[in-house]
Amino acid sequence: MCESSYPMISVEKAIEIILHHVRPLAPVALDFMNALGFVLAEDIYASEPMPPFAASAVDGYAVIAADEEPTRHLIGEQPAGTMGPFTVVPGSAVRVMTGAPIPTGADAVVMVEHTSLEDNGRVRLHIQPVAGDNIRPVGQDLAAGQLVLPRGISLGAPEIGLLATIGRTCVSVYPRPRVAVLSTGDELVDPRDQPGPGQIRDANRYSLLSAVREAGGQPLDWGRIPDRPEAVREALESALRQADAVLTSGGVSMGDLDLIKPYLAARGTVHFGRVRARPGKPVTFATVDGVPVFAMPGFPVSALVSFEIYVRPALLKMAGHTHLHRPRRRVIIEHTIRHEPDRTEFQRAVVTRRVDGRYTARTTGYQGSGRLLSMVGANALIVLPAEQETFLAGSELEAWLIAPVYDETTPAGS
Ligand code: AMP
Ligand code: MG
Repeated sequence: MCESSYPMISVEKAIEIILHHVRPLAPVALDFMNALGFVLAEDIYASEPMPPFAASAVDGYAVIAADEEPTRHLIGEQPAGTMGPFTVVPGSAVRVMTGAPIPTGADAVVMVEHTSLEDNGRVRLHIQPVAGDNIRPVGQDLAAGQLVLPRGISLGAPEIGLLATIGRTCVSVYPRPRVAVLSTGDELVDPRDQPGPGQIRDANRYSLLSAVREAGGQPLDWGRIPDRPEAVREALESALRQADAVLTSGGVSMGDLDLIKPYLAARGTVHFGRVRARPGKPVTFATVDGVPVFAMPGFPVSALVSFEIYVRPALLKMAGHTHLHRPRRRVIIEHTIRHEPDRTEFQRAVVTRRVDGRYTARTTGYQGSGRLLSMVGANALIVLPAEQETFLAGSELEAWLIAPVYDETTPAGS
């Protein structure tokens, strides 16, 4: 039997090797409005306090709390956005709007709901305020000099709002990795074309381009490459020059025209070329001139599951993320599952949170490496350890959650 010369390593070891060899990309400066989804490469401090002045938290009347007058003489109106000339003295009040600066002398605001206006131009307070009531002091939300966004955080809507608040309109972030995606195989035709005898449409280039985008990378379509050494060389060399990472599909098995591994071995370092996993045994990782190359097997499920396990964490790391892995949780399998116990298997499944709070999993039918339909609708990969052949319904397995888990809907009428 013809055996691959690459030792078969565990999935954990393969992930560890990859993460050891990839680094966050060099930071770039971006306008904050283009930075959504990027990871911060610097600590961001507030230069000013927020609020920058003592502000009213409600619409009402600014007064002196210790003043016991039940009615106060109204001396003016203080809207938000300006600073009026008023000074509150005992016996007086200023009408204030939410967000308005607190007039000099006042130390509390009484909500308009707890007051009434009298005919004589005085306002009656129905409650006795306490100093500080309804006043947002300077720096209540942010102190000047405070660390507001630490390096490593990803920028979502609240973070973008904070940057706007403190006037930081240019930020240093890790760029999205540019990933050249190419497929190999003489049997492949464009999805828009009718395959001839012996041909099939190229699925992997499109699923992998999409997976790169979903993982926050910048996919670059490097085309469909015939199984010819010269074509493989040209495509890989141009990709290595222009991309931060290269992602290939097909051509990593033991066939005569499986040209990817030999090329990578000759040009750079192949860190592993076989993993004890199903699907995706021949998945290969190399570095060439410092550029990581992820070579996926050609079967469409093998390509995408391998992307999920090995490539996605690497792209996240290159983009500056520190949480690289999918959440894992124990789930109860709803039916008995058997598998070939020679390798760890990742079966595609739907995990559901039941009404009683238990998480249960059901696989998505036939789990062949060519059956992309087994990934459609799946929100988990459930891990069947090697060495054990049968997992009985009701037993627990580990699931890697690759998409949101939904609650079982409560049955109507219950
Ligand atoms: P390979 O890894 O190149 O030996 O391919 C393994 C299997 O996957 C073969 O049946 C190929 O026809 C199929 N395959 C390879 N590349 C693709 C692709 N891009 N899209 C769909 N199927 C593919
Ligand atoms: Mg092939």
